[in-house]
Amino acid sequence: MRLSNTLTQITGGGSDGWELFIKARKMIAEGRDVTELTIGEHDIKTDTRILEAMHGAALGGATGYAMVPGIDPLRTAVAERLTHRTGVRTALDNVLITAGGQAALFAAFRAALDAGDSALYIDPYYATYPGTIRSVGGVPVAVTAPAENGFQPDIDALDKAAATSGAKALLINSPNNPTGAVYTRDTLERLAQIAHKHDLIVISDEVYDTQVWEGAHLSIRALEGMAERTFVVGSMSKSHAMTGSRVGWLVGPAHAMGHVTNLLTNTNYGVAGFTQQAALFALGLGETFEEEIAAPFKRRRALAQAALKGQNALRLSPPSGAMYLMLDIRASGLTGDAFADRLLTERAIAVMPGESFGTAAAGHVRVAMTIPDAPFEAALKEMVAFGATLA
Ligand code: PLP
Repeated sequence: MRLSNTLTQITGGGSDGWELFIKARKMIAEGRDVTELTIGEHDIKTDTRILEAMHGAALGGATGYAMVPGIDPLRTAVAERLTHRTGVRTALDNVLITAGGQAALFAAFRAALDAGDSALYIDPYYATYPGTIRSVGGVPVAVTAPAENGFQPDIDALDKAAATSGAKALLINSPNNPTGAVYTRDTLERLAQIAHKHDLIVISDEVYDTQVWEGAHLSIRALEGMAERTFVVGSMSKSHAMTGSRVGWLVGPAHAMGHVTNLLTNTNYGVAGFTQQAALFALGLGETFEEEIAAPFKRRRALAQAALKGQNALRLSPPSGAMYLMLDIRASGLTGDAFADRLLTERAIAVMPGESFGTAAAGHVRVAMTIPDAPFEAALKEMVAFGATLA
């Protein structure tokens, strides 16, 4: 079988950065007691009330084909949520329901790029970004967000990269995975200027919008003149602990959404009606529920600040948002890869090497705050002890 180049080159060749994760999973399968701090998934399951709503919807007959753009009540609820949270008037016809934020990212790039077009994205980055760009035949162009700059993007570098690559799109993610950076108003305004100057479609991944610990979440779509050139990617995965249900959304200009619906018709053909109804029920639980889902990460962030105080081996810049800590481990003299590998082998703690998120996170490791408080705190103390042996 001769497969397409677009398909076989999705990973861009070489390492996809997940070796450590695979090694940890292998150790666990062999019966080793590994503390798993790699992946962005809550340590709680989807709330029983949401599952009951899903069950009820399925028994009530929502098992046939659902409307491809999404069921109207859910599109309306998402529109109201965005209107309320971002201040941008959003209507049903600005919203399409997708199989998680990931399918919305794919649809957005399919909407923005033709084969061979370049798309800018910010390094450090969420693992799927370059692959998603390549999967529509696009060319990913990374622009750095240096650690020294609090992982806010280097706007001058972005300006230059936009000019030299002739990019059609810019992908941003705030609150950010893996860095925890929340883009400031100033950063977003400067990003918007770049978008206007180079006529870029902006794809704004806001799946962590309910997890902000410092500052406030501002959607770039809310800045003047940006709604017409922005797609927002959202999801129930992180805000409602519904990762496996695969419900997310793409929000954008109404005229674009008609075309994107044609893409959805010819790919997923809609999202299961009973999961959409469960998502509708979950949104109805309101902001208090979203705060409850986010609370453990805020708590563990504070635990980490305390556990990492008074030592220099591991440097924490407390994340402003999302469910991860980025630790600067350069005092150890190791790369993030080597540090993570030794931490796993010698202390049975699995964290993600910064290098798996791009070059700007080299010399760091990402710690997911996704295990209960007591073992989380114990793991951090163990990491500090390990770091001290190297520093
Ligand atoms: N965007 C970011 C930044 C993420 O971290 C994730 C998942 O970890 C996603 C998008 C995709 O999430 P989902 O497809 O579950 O909505």
